[in-house]
Amino acid sequence: MKHIARKRFGQHFLTDQDAIERIVQAIAPQPGQALVEIGPGLGALTQPLLARCGALCVIEIDRDLAAHWRRRAQLEVIEADVLQVDFAALARSRGTKLRVVGNLPYNISSPILFHLLEAVNHVADQHFMLQAEVVQRLTASAATKAYGRLSVMLQWRYQIEHLIDVAPASFEPAPRVNSAVVRMQPLHDFAPVQPAHLSELVRVAFSQRRKLLRHTLGRWLEARRFDGQFDLQRRAEEVPVAQYLSLAAACAG
Ligand code: SAM
Repeated sequence: MKHIARKRFGQHFLTDQDAIERIVQAIAPQPGQALVEIGPGLGALTQPLLARCGALCVIEIDRDLAAHWRRRAQLEVIEADVLQVDFAALARSRGTKLRVVGNLPYNISSPILFHLLEAVNHVADQHFMLQAEVVQRLTASAATKAYGRLSVMLQWRYQIEHLIDVAPASFEPAPRVNSAVVRMQPLHDFAPVQPAHLSELVRVAFSQRRKLLRHTLGRWLEARRFDGQFDLQRRAEEVPVAQYLSLAAACAG
């Protein structure tokens, strides 16, 4: 198909057969699974996934690409902005948890990750190509530069594994950044905290990374009359995920 890449949709099409093969192997799709691909583009992943599992649901915002894929009988095409897609309803309509995959548009990759977090109970796993820097943030441990809000919020609900590095030359047009593929598997055991409450706590903590937490989180906790133990003489990036979760549980509502 003839198609000029649209920058506004973050279109960088994978062309490296070796990278494609490694990604599909990592996904290991099986017939009967409820696979959902975000942004099929020109089909670099769509075709080999379809060859292995026989049917696939794709979500594509680009009208021309969506029209192209609608001609394939084995594909269910949702022409939409992925951020508007109700993944919980999609899973319910299939009667099973979803396996969500995609070489994501980098300009909205964090919003997509947070959108999917809302449907985490309906997801079996996620395999995504992302900007390498985002993968570093997703997998970062406390006391590292990459550690931040994204690390805490997503490590709360997923086990996250950095799988494959992919160079700019593997795409057409080549992005200006390095890329990496990540696997995210929802955790069975996770702290039972309210997402909005944890999100606010973590946002306040990381609002001024360089300052000690007593200047940021300290005030927030004070306003909530928190009287438990928490060392505020640290910077946000020094606090491990488990301690944020305990604190969120201890100062809930
Ligand atoms: N999967 C193809 C590949 O690997 O070559 C294309 C990947 S390209 C990086 C991102 C794809 O996501 C494009 O097809 C683009 O049109 C689509 N896309 C961008 N923004 C989107 C959105 N908000 N909702 C759904 N699809 C979107």
